[in-house]
Amino acid sequence: MSRIAIAGAGGRMGRNLIQAVLDNPRATLAGAVDRPDSEAVGRDAGELVGAGPTGVGVTDDLSRVTGDCDVVIDFTLPDATEANLSACRDAGTALVIGTTGHSQAQRDAINAAGRALPIVFAPNYSAGVNLTFRLIEMAARALGEGFDVEVIEAHHRHKVDAPSGTAIRMGEVLAEALGRDLERDAVYARQGHTGERESRQIGFQTIRAGDIVGEHTVMFGGVGERIEITHKASSRMTFANGAVRAAIWVTGQSPGVYDMQDVLGLRAG
Ligand code: NAD
Repeated sequence: MSRIAIAGAGGRMGRNLIQAVLDNPRATLAGAVDRPDSEAVGRDAGELVGAGPTGVGVTDDLSRVTGDCDVVIDFTLPDATEANLSACRDAGTALVIGTTGHSQAQRDAINAAGRALPIVFAPNYSAGVNLTFRLIEMAARALGEGFDVEVIEAHHRHKVDAPSGTAIRMGEVLAEALGRDLERDAVYARQGHTGERESRQIGFQTIRAGDIVGEHTVMFGGVGERIEITHKASSRMTFANGAVRAAIWVTGQSPGVYDMQDVLGLRAG
């Protein structure tokens, strides 16, 4: 039985994570945390999701719960991940990070913490998206040059980072498969007299509208044909169940930074 604490418990993902832990017979809810000004603090975590009392109150201090749990799941904001990372390092508690939009320095700090702790750090915890990473890699290797590559993503109006972490990871997978350099070849916006498209470009198009949970398409545009590989999430429970699966998996691992490809056994051999 894995004892799991949720950081960001009052958020959209946090509430789905509470539900996913309560639904999972291999997991138990051991803590719930949000920031001090959150209306979730002081309430029972079960009541937040309409599941009735669990006896686990939402607190505003992760260090008060790390001693009682095996793993923390963080779906917050990049600066909060940084603070949560140091609380987990102090307590020797494993960490699953779902938050996106970290700076390079914050990513470096996560990698450094991975020398002491087992950490799963993934931009997307759905099994379908992680399979999609493999499908676009196969398509890019098979098609090679001659097909223009664009990544199109759509999310709800409340999302604060762009392009999505998943779209960026798709860009990394495509760049690696095509022998390109994402730093140099990514194009994040086009407007005005852009000139013709350069064949090395990997384009990113971002849509923010309404309540879209998360949609990603990779388009390979050739002459006379195009291939589109699309994943559409229709419920946050897919990310929540995947993150809980990662949390149960990571408690048995050696220190290191893993991703969902490791959890699902999809890593290319
Ligand atoms: P949200 O704004 O609804 O929730 C974030 C929660 O974190 C809020 O309750 C907020 O009060 C809390 N928070 C902020 N600072 C905090 C702190 N210092 N300590 C504790 N709690 C703090 O956002 P969301 O839609 O739930 O998304 C959260 C993050 O998860 C985003 O970065 C999003 O991109 C990412 N996300 C990742 C996946 C994935 O599969 N990896 C899926 C969906 C969303």
